[in-house]
Amino acid sequence: RSGPVKRTLESYYTTIEDFPAEGILFRDITSVLGDADGFKLAIDEMLKAIEGEAIDVIIGIEARGFMFAPVLAYELGKPFVPVRKAGKLPRETVSATCTLEYGEATIEMHADAFPPGSKVLIVDDLIATGGTAKATAQMVEELGGVVSSFLFVSELTYLNGRDLLEGYKVHSLVTF
Ligand code: AMP
Repeated sequence: RSGPVKRTLESYYTTIEDFPAEGILFRDITSVLGDADGFKLAIDEMLKAIEGEAIDVIIGIEARGFMFAPVLAYELGKPFVPVRKAGKLPRETVSATCTLEYGEATIEMHADAFPPGSKVLIVDDLIATGGTAKATAQMVEELGGVVSSFLFVSELTYLNGRDLLEGYKVHSLVTF
């Protein structure tokens, strides 16, 4: 056989046991980003997943959504909007509370992030319970936006995050 063997996106992931807490299998995206071929494959597959979708704005969720959403925004020539943990954004914000595996968290987005009626793509590195993604959709809708789809590099299927996002279109590239 000639030419290099094609690697899968999954093969660039590193899995760490018991991080950040006992019993958690942590799917580490830094080894995907830390390999130029891995990062390119991730971006190429993300762009392919949303091909043909009408999108006006691309949201990235802090922190690991920030590693992908701006690249997609640049490639597609669309604006990038950050969703951040409470207290980080300087102007008027809307906020939502996410129910996570343990406890709650509040996230925020600028109130003037996009005009009403905008079609919004929501990007993160991984969907676990779906709590963060759902809270982000609530903020988008509060501002009169329409969620075109969610795009995750990977999905922990055993946490059923998709069920929480029922009624929305959800893309994920790698399932664990
Ligand atoms: P959730 O709101 O439960 O869907 O949590 C999603 C966020 O938690 C994502 O932004 C992930 O970066 C992070 N996360 C949760 N579980 C894991 C895991 N097992 N490995 C890596 N990241 C995780």
